[in-house]
Amino acid sequence: MKSYVIDLECTYPGCDEKYCIDEINKLCIKCGRVLYARYDIEAVKKNMSKDDLIKRDPNMWRYFEMMPVKDPKNVICLGEGFTPIFKAENLGKVEGYSDLHIKDEGLNPTGSFKARGLSAALSKAKELGIKKVTMPSAGNAAGAMAAYAAAGNLEAHVFMPNDAPIMNQKESTLAGASLNLIDGLINDAGRLSNEFADKENLFDVSTLKEPYRQEGKKTMGYEIAEQFGWELPDSIVYPTGGGTGIVGMWKAFDEMESLGWIGSKRPKMFTVQATGCAPIVKAFEENTQHAELWENASTKAAGMRVPVAVGDYLILEALRESGGGVAAIEDEDMIENMKLIASTQGILPAPEGAATYVGLNKLVSERKIDKEEKILLMNTGSVFKYFELM
Ligand SMILES: *Cc1c(COP(=O)(O)O)cnc(C)c1O
Ligand SMILES: [Zn+2]
Repeated sequence: MKSYVIDLECTYPGCDEKYCIDEINKLCIKCGRVLYARYDIEAVKKNMSKDDLIKRDPNMWRYFEMMPVKDPKNVICLGEGFTPIFKAENLGKVEGYSDLHIKDEGLNPTGSFKARGLSAALSKAKELGIKKVTMPSAGNAAGAMAAYAAAGNLEAHVFMPNDAPIMNQKESTLAGASLNLIDGLINDAGRLSNEFADKENLFDVSTLKEPYRQEGKKTMGYEIAEQFGWELPDSIVYPTGGGTGIVGMWKAFDEMESLGWIGSKRPKMFTVQATGCAPIVKAFEENTQHAELWENASTKAAGMRVPVAVGDYLILEALRESGGGVAAIEDEDMIENMKLIASTQGILPAPEGAATYVGLNKLVSERKIDKEEKILLMNTGSVFKYFELM
């Protein structure tokens, strides 16, 4: 298999800077915004068809032509991706949803979809000759980074708020990462990780500040299309923190349309956040291009406790272009509905996953989603990471 990646391109409107794919890059040097990997679509069209996928391994690297790593030897794979989509019949009956589905990302290595992003980012880091990595994390990303660093023989350092879930702390140190607990939030951890990277010459793998985590997360978009027979659902509800997943899926849909794998129909994309940390919800409602820093961010869903997102403009663009929207929900409702999902479906969701169901009910009551639509909830993690909440 061959990757058809060409270069990196700035995503910011009006800035069309391009960067070499074989050099280490982070954000756009000119404008400080997010870079996206671009592919030679025409060559992929000529050399592969989506039917070729049938014979491939059930992990996210099955889309290798559209992945940023050139040499398959650099791929660090623990079996991430190609997680099942379940039709949630029992849960659907509770409120009368006729076509409700859950993609269970809790079945990924290290129990969350962060595995996708870190598999892609550390594989590319390895390809670029990077030996040491660091990252700030509100939780699951750290555990994933530690595992992929171990498998890929990289040295890993993690900066985490000292109230991050215990399991995320343990899994990081278990996999051999050096853990730095800090008295502050994820953005403070980000600053410290960044300073450490500069001082010790490490590569900082913060969400969207390096260009490859979103390439891993975009594979959710490819899978949703493939698993639904190349027909996207009507609505996707996503628990949004840094937003890598939502912008990744949106990128995947565009790529697949140019490849001729899907048509122009897009799902309505919805962001769910907790009322204690809802910067994207606020920006969407105020119709701004960027989100302001959310002061005193607080929610039990560590993955959604992200007070500021580098890719805010990309998230907001996806929500708006898709005709989707936002919902802010209460932590209590989220925790209560973990039980409903687990006891009806047997899927033991992360609080973030339960948040999508609570958000869905709210969006339906506001008539943003119909109960008859084909709806996909993203359960982004497993409850096993959150035993403090049980
Ligand atoms: C990180 C995380 C999120 C948020 O994901 P983004 O793509 O950064 O918005 C949601 N749920 C869980 C379980 C997470 O770990
Ligand atoms: Zn730029």
